[in-house]
Amino acid sequence: MAKWGMVIDLDKCTGCQACTTACSMENNTLPGENWQDVLYYHEGQYPSGQMKWLPRPCMQCENPSCVHVCPTRATYKDMDAGGIVFVDWNKCIGCKYCMIACPYGVRFYADEKPLLEPDLRAIFPGEGGQLWSPPYQNPEEDWRRGIGVQPHGVVSKCTFCYHRVSKAPPGTPDLDEDDPMLKEYVPACVRTCPPKARFFGDLDNPSSQVNRLIGDKHGVRLLDHTGNRPQVYYLGAGAGIPAFTPKTKS
Ligand code: SF4
Ligand code: SF4
Repeated sequence: MAKWGMVIDLDKCTGCQACTTACSMENNTLPGENWQDVLYYHEGQYPSGQMKWLPRPCMQCENPSCVHVCPTRATYKDMDAGGIVFVDWNKCIGCKYCMIACPYGVRFYADEKPLLEPDLRAIFPGEGGQLWSPPYQNPEEDWRRGIGVQPHGVVSKCTFCYHRVSKAPPGTPDLDEDDPMLKEYVPACVRTCPPKARFFGDLDNPSSQVNRLIGDKHGVRLLDHTGNRPQVYYLGAGAGIPAFTPKTKS
């Protein structure tokens, strides 16, 4: 079984948010509820201050703090699914412990005040337990893995587009969006990235491109000091990763 990993080259990423839009369409998320977000920030001071950005999906951590705190075991890491961390919407009670425990801020509780107006939940009211009924609804539905239009009162997050990835031929080292035989299995954010800043493949396969990139270009994981050990790696210094500076007592 593959161990799915994503590589994001920050020297190539232009911060265009095509990934964010593609993810929202693919996964029926409400506007503003971005499973694949791009975070913008400033570094430095005038006159040499710079605008920077960081694309950020769920890291599908090897040691996920969200799983450890979930009281109902709704959140779980599935090694048979390439190590993807899922939320079982049948079990989630919406307590939000996982949202607090995740150091990357990638989880959403969509029952709250809408992040963007108008509130599409009122315009497209949900049916059959769904939170809303988007007009472009993706036909895939798998509540055990948090896939589909979410119901009320649950937490949601990126699934590495498991509904696509799971259909790839077994043993595939990389899901390359340039390969016509594989492109249907590639996660939506990887498939749509205009400058091809994203790569997706098997971290357990020594011949995969993701492994080569991580080794050759010194891939790093975010907030490694937390011990979460993400399955998402970043390359390059172009867009930069905010430096972690431990606070010292004065
Ligand atoms: S909100 Fe749901 S998934 Fe998160 S900790 Fe609570 S029960 Fe588990
Ligand atoms: S990034 Fe957060 S939500 Fe995703 S697996 Fe890690 S701790 Fe859990």
